[in-house]
Amino acid sequence: MQIKSNYPLKNITTLQIGGLAKKFVSINSVDELKEAVQYANTNNLNHLVIGGGSNLLVSDDGVDMLIIKNEIGGIASQGLTLQVKSGTILQDLVNYSISHGLSGLQKLTGIPGTLGGAVYGNAGAYGQTISDHITEVVFYDGQHIATLSKDQCGFNYRDSGFKRNHNIILEVTFQLEKADSDILAKETAEILSKRLVKYPKGIKCPGSFFKNIVTDTLPQEILQKIPKEAVVYGKLPAGYLLESVGAKGQQLDGIEIAPYHANLFVNKGSGSATAFYDLAKKYADLVKQKFGILLEPEVQLINLPKI
Ligand SMILES: Cc1cc2nc3c(=O)[nH]c(=O)nc-3n(C[C@H](O)[C@H](O)[C@H](O)COP(=O)(O)OP(=O)(O)OC[C@H]3O[C@@H](n4cnc5c(N)ncnc54)[C@H](O)[C@@H]3O)c2cc1C
Repeated sequence: MQIKSNYPLKNITTLQIGGLAKKFVSINSVDELKEAVQYANTNNLNHLVIGGGSNLLVSDDGVDMLIIKNEIGGIASQGLTLQVKSGTILQDLVNYSISHGLSGLQKLTGIPGTLGGAVYGNAGAYGQTISDHITEVVFYDGQHIATLSKDQCGFNYRDSGFKRNHNIILEVTFQLEKADSDILAKETAEILSKRLVKYPKGIKCPGSFFKNIVTDTLPQEILQKIPKEAVVYGKLPAGYLLESVGAKGQQLDGIEIAPYHANLFVNKGSGSATAFYDLAKKYADLVKQKFGILLEPEVQLINLPKI
């Protein structure tokens, strides 16, 4: 385990933006994780565990903390049950489940990052979420390792209790369903080709920036302003609201809102976190003015004010 100083976080975020981490370490085992946490405590540093950096907007000023990149991988299976280490690349898990004829994760194909990051944000796509088939999560609270049942994890739309308790996700157990590998593979191939349209290869972005809005949470007077056909899977897409205030194709200092999707903010190469933040805030404010709806980032803002 090698702790590095002044590590450029733009090197490990899919957005390719982010200032320096005071300290940075990659870990491959729980023992290394404990050692890293101990190092942070001894040196009076806060620490943050990250995975693939695919859901992060990190300040240009960087962070005065120890960033711990989780690379603890591994999948063990017994029948329909999978026990998976949190640093496993999500796509590797999806591929494993498909080749073993297990259904329940296949629609998550194409989502970058690790299992730990996916559980933290309850990642999902095409009506499936990572939590659907979870039975247990093992975590580390900085002192002890313990297990939570699914009900204790506080999963909700793009949300989990881990966003508030800051426990480190170590291992996840899934109970999947038997299925035909060929059918699963066909399903994922179709999804991947659709995803490539929104996320062409090499795109520098953190996925969709704002969360969609669960329509049940909206007051009637706001819902009345929204055409029924705009609602998808019980959610009002943030992209619909952003498009309505003219966000599509807008640019600021190297950051562009995709001309084909108003909730996709892309680094064109020279963008900064400041430009990204300012552009996102501008259109979130316009949505608030027009619809009275507060958009909430799905992406985790690191060392940046709340939008
Ligand atoms: C091209 C593209 C497409 C995307 N499509 C989708 C999509 O369809 N659906 C979707 O939901 N998301 C999507 N995303 C967003 C992102 O890929 C997911 O949120 C992903 O699950 C994040 O995983 P990560 O390992 O990269 O997390 P990171 O970005 O590294 O971290 C995200 C958060 O999780 C926390 N975290 C990470 N690991 C742990 C751990 N072990 N314990 C505790 N906390 C942890 C971090 O502290 C951070 O707060 C997309 C992103 C990109 C770039």
